[in-house]
Parts: sequence; structure tokens; C-alpha cells
Amino acid sequence: MFDTLSSRLDKVFTSLRGRGRLTDADIDATAREIRVALLEADVALPVVRSFVAAIKSRARGAEVGASLNPAQQVIKIVNEELVAILGGGTTTLRFAKTPPTVILLAGLQGTGKTTLAGKLGRWLKAQGHTPLLVAADLQRPNAVNQLQVVGARAGVEVFAPEPGNGVGDPVRVARDALAHARRQVFDVVVVDTAGRLGVDEELMRQAADIRDAVSPDEILFVLDAMIGQDAVATANAFADGVGFSGVVLTKLDGDARGGAALSVAQVTGRPIMFASTGEALDDFDVFHPERMASRILGMGDVLTLIEQAEKAFEAEQAEAMAAKMAASEFTLEDFLDQMLTVRKMGPIGNLLGMLPGMGQMKEQLAQVDDRDVDRVVAIIRSMTPGERRDPKILQASRKARVARGSGVTVTEVNQLLDRFAEARKVMRQMAGGMGLPGGMARAK
Ligand code: GDP
Repeated sequence: MFDTLSSRLDKVFTSLRGRGRLTDADIDATAREIRVALLEADVALPVVRSFVAAIKSRARGAEVGASLNPAQQVIKIVNEELVAILGGGTTTLRFAKTPPTVILLAGLQGTGKTTLAGKLGRWLKAQGHTPLLVAADLQRPNAVNQLQVVGARAGVEVFAPEPGNGVGDPVRVARDALAHARRQVFDVVVVDTAGRLGVDEELMRQAADIRDAVSPDEILFVLDAMIGQDAVATANAFADGVGFSGVVLTKLDGDARGGAALSVAQVTGRPIMFASTGEALDDFDVFHPERMASRILGMGDVLTLIEQAEKAFEAEQAEAMAAKMAASEFTLEDFLDQMLTVRKMGPIGNLLGMLPGMGQMKEQLAQVDDRDVDRVVAIIRSMTPGERRDPKILQASRKARVARGSGVTVTEVNQLLDRFAEARKVMRQMAGGMGLPGGMARAK
């Protein structure tokens, strides 16, 4: 699945490599190629339109950063937009406060509902639940038996109508199953329903009747990713006829073009929750939009590349800071920035303890209190820019003003200034230790 789309997109990105800057014409041409690639992959037209519009406007607005070249930037944007149309984040099942949680499976015949019931059962069991599978597909000959076989393989109990009792009445089977689950303390009930080859009213009504009888917590619409352009119409028909809270994509292992998979979340506004990738019970997992996007872009390595570039950018910033330290240009202003960054990252003791070379300082660090950090921030903020750059100008009256402004005593202001002077000295030594210019020798 997605092979054509992947190779098409790859071509688009390749043509951008080595470019220094993207003109508007470049962006238009790129957007056109992406549009063709998506349409060829059977992605629904409204989804293609909004996707391409987003790529265009974001690529235009993208800063020419030091860290990413234009090709990487486009890849990054396409990746993020793909993740967005696939639903953004991972969505998990909602379990009822009072068990049993009821999950209803709906979808066309042959999409893989019965197989899915087994997969879900096994998955739920692995999560520590006690699921019950319910054979409410009484249309297809052998469907009940198929569920029993799948259930046995998954090691999960199956509730099936007894001969002569409820045969032909799926609503009754579902209701009886729920009562059985309550009595026997099953905490999740998965109801397999009948599908038809095409969308028809009778099918919808039956699924809706079962829905009304068991008030499901989740209705999962099961969609065969191979069905192509029909996916959107089918999804919409089920959204109108039965309604659903999530989508399960099956047969993602197939070699179809996969546009259905790419359209359904956006078109229906419902998240893709699970994905099926084969006939075996284990070919099943929670759906992760980010992973799917990376798979489409075929870019484990590209993403790593982007990460490296971003890290390099951070390293550049760190280097600039280190150079400042070494050149004794490190001011209270920089100190404040650092404090604020540190504050954002969580308890300061833990954080500094993780830095290499900081091990021996751990004990001291454990005594650092975050409220200390807040106090330091308040003191520095009460200083004028001139005072922050050159604390030597802080005479007694200025110190008194700063103390008042930050709600501390003059002694505390003095303590901070001493600590800062000390920190500056240590930093110069560290910079020297890292082989940066202006290190130990000059610090002495
Ligand atoms: P139902 O009519 O919706 O209950 O569909 P079934 O569960 O009977 O599945 C129809 C066929 O699709 C069966 O042959 C399954 O083995 C097969 N199938 C189900 N899920 C997948 C999948 O993810 N990948 C592949 N390749 N086949 C699947």
C-alpha cells in the first residue's frame, strides 16, 4: 500500500534537493505535483484540495532557517499535514465507567469485521480485559461459526444464538449477550454485525436497531482500505445510517493505492483507531498517524535527518552561549534566559543531574529549590537592562529599589550577585575545559 504515492512524493522531494531557496513558482510547481500524487493514490478531492492549500501557504510562510534546507522543509510540512489529515494523534477506546463496555462493529461484508472481532478480543485480553465476542451477524451463512473459530483461536469466549432460540434476530442476540456479559462479569462486549456487499437500507436499519438495543460506548466503522474511491461514499452512508465514533482500517497490507485510508478521518471527522494488516490475529495494532505518515513518506532516515538538523541548530545556540561565557560576556540577562529555560523544563535538580559531567554536583543540586529559581528570576526582572548588563553599577540605592521591586531583602540581592559572579567564573573554567577559546588561562 502507498508504494506509488511514496515514490511520487519522493520524486517531488528529490527535485527540491540542492536548492538554496524556493521561489513562489517553485512552491506552486511542487504543490501541483503533490496534488497529482494524492489524486493518483485515490485520495478524495476535498481532502486533496485542503491538503495542497495548507502545503502552499505553509511553504510560503516557512522561514529559511539555518537548520533545514528547502527540500527538508517541504518534507517536514508534508509530513505534518499528513499526520493532521490522518487525525493528528492516537485515539484510544473509551471504556464505560460501569462495565461492560460495548463495542459495535459495522461495515460492508468482507471488510474484515469478523476477523477484527477476534483481533480486538485478543488485543483486549492482552490489555487485561475479559472480552466477550457476540455473533450478531446472522445474515452470512457460516458467520457465526467463523466467529466461533476466530474466538477459539484468540482464546476469547463467543456468545452465539442457540439453535432455535433467537436465530434470525440479531437484536435479540445482542441484547441476550449483554445480559450474559453482566451476569458473567465480562467487561467488554464486542458485537459483530452483518454486512452487505453494498450499502442498503435494510442493513443500516438492522445495525441501527442493534445499536439502540445495546447502547454501545464505541461504534467502529470497519473500512477495507483497498476499496478506493468508494470509501468516502461508504463512510458517509454509515455515518448517516448508524453513526460511528471511530474507524478501523483493514487490509492495509494490500497493494491498492490507499487513498481511502488517507481520506476517511478528514471526511468523516472521526479518528482512525485501529489498523489491520493481515489475516493473522496478530496483524493488528492501534493506529498511529505519525507512523503511518512516516511510512508513506518512506522516511525513517529523512526524519532522522530533520531531527539532526534541528539538534544542530540547538547546538549552534549552545555554542553561541558558550562563546559568550568564554568571552566573559555572559550577563545577568543571559542568566535570566537560562533560568527561564530551566524553569520550563521541570525540577532543576533532576535536570542538571542529567547533564554529563554534572554527576559530582548532584548532591548540591538536590538542594536547589525551584522557588529559589523563581526568586532569582524576580530579582533580575526588577533590574534595568543597564544593570543586567553591568551589575557593578548597582549601588546601595539601586539595590534597595531592586529588592523592593522583587519582594526580597537587600541581602538576597547581594547573594544573587555573588552567586552570579561565582557562576560566571565557573562557566569560564568550563568553557576552558571544553576547549573553547578564552578558557582556563584567561580565567586565572
Ligand atoms: P466480514 O464479512 O466483514 O466479517 O469479513 P471477514 O472477517 O470474514 O474477512 C473477509 C476476508 O478478509 C477474510 O478472508 C479475512 O481473512 C480477510 N481479512 C480480514 N482482515 C484482513 C487484513 O487486514 N488483511 C488481509 N490481507 N486480509 C484480511
